[in-house]
Amino acid sequence: MSENLSNRITKVLIAGAGVGGLTAALSLHRRGVQVEVYEKYKGMQRHTTGFTLWSYAITRLQELGLGPSEMETVGTPVEVMEIRNQKGRLIAKMPIGEVSRELGADSYEIKRPRLLEAIESQLPEGTVRRGVECVSAESSGDAATLEFADGSKATGDLVIGADGIHSNLRASVSGPSELRDSGYRGCSAVTDYTSRDDLAHFHIDIWGKGGKAGIADVGEGRIRWYLTWKTKLDNEMQTREQLLSAHQGWDPILLEVIESTPESEILHHQFFDIAAIETWRRGRIVLLGDAAHATTPFAAMGANMTIEDVAVLTEQLEQAPEVDSALAAFEDARKQRTEDIVSKGQSMARLTQLHSSFAAWLRDQAFLHMPEKETEKVTREMASGE
Ligand SMILES: Cc1cc2nc3c(=O)[nH]c(=O)nc-3n(C[C@H](O)[C@H](O)[C@H](O)COP(=O)(O)OP(=O)(O)OC[C@H]3O[C@@H](n4cnc5c(N)ncnc54)[C@H](O)[C@@H]3O)c2cc1C
Repeated sequence: MSENLSNRITKVLIAGAGVGGLTAALSLHRRGVQVEVYEKYKGMQRHTTGFTLWSYAITRLQELGLGPSEMETVGTPVEVMEIRNQKGRLIAKMPIGEVSRELGADSYEIKRPRLLEAIESQLPEGTVRRGVECVSAESSGDAATLEFADGSKATGDLVIGADGIHSNLRASVSGPSELRDSGYRGCSAVTDYTSRDDLAHFHIDIWGKGGKAGIADVGEGRIRWYLTWKTKLDNEMQTREQLLSAHQGWDPILLEVIESTPESEILHHQFFDIAAIETWRRGRIVLLGDAAHATTPFAAMGANMTIEDVAVLTEQLEQAPEVDSALAAFEDARKQRTEDIVSKGQSMARLTQLHSSFAAWLRDQAFLHMPEKETEKVTREMASGE
């Protein structure tokens, strides 16, 4: 227990039981703080989705007490990330496993609902209250109050807005914000792949012309895959047959996994980010994760940044002399860094989905001839978050 923290903060209220809300709840609970999490949905979402967590974020989860047995259920370590061109030709191979282990923890492909369940299972029963929509928050003196859709309220020493990209609490902290359409749509699914043992511990990124795709082993004989395309093509990408027909000539592995997926398991997505907001905090209210800095998934960093936010916020609450200075130090440490990643998401969207055949060919040649040392450097940057 951290006496420094629990002496100054008794109760924290958190809006949202996603990656950020639950990780923050566990981090504060481990330090002796009473936590209440309010989640607008009544139950876990039925469909499984997944994402990549790099070594540095996994280290943070391990520090919170997610040990090898929990990690085994939430996902699987990534050994190799291959970048392929549209037709399936290898253009770069990244030694994710080797580099991640040198950094101290494997990078993982994660099943989102399993991760959330694993974190929640370490919290005292009743911490997460479901079916409660937070509409706004107010700060007064050393307290902050969360207001719910049914008109009721709760008060604590600190309110954390972890209510995701469509955050209601963002407006309570920094006024109106702009959700920016990336111009891309996409879909994803998790499916069985019992016939493809050779995909074990692989993540394959396929950079196409005007769109991209990915396939990754998430453990337990299942893989996740995704596709992206320009918004104007959306009408032609609605059914599995349409997806297959639009991607004829792409990497045969991709077509095989799409074919093996029941249509009802395919989820469709719109990709947005938010323009930088003026501030992440007002009095005793603070934002983190997508509520503060939502990015498109093209840099595969949103959940990683969210977990890092929680670690830095907790460290500052422990170390800074006052809660207010801790929140200021947290914002100072994270705001510019995450804004840079939001921009990186936009650059990655352009780089990985180039529209001109010639530009795509040049890009592929550049990666194909990248010296091994450079590939390792890029891998290290991704896995370490530096
Ligand atoms: C298709 C896709 C692929 C992605 N791939 C990656 C990847 O590979 N790597 C990576 O790092 N990131 C990835 N991301 C981004 C990542 O999912 C997010 O950045 C991350 O989930 C943010 O965590 P969060 O807790 O801030 O928000 P969320 O995980 O969205 O959680 C917000 C929670 O708040 C709840 N909520 C919302 N409004 C309210 C309200 N008013 N009151 C109460 N509760 C509320 C929501 O129901 C949800 O449970 C991807 C995202 C998408 C869409």
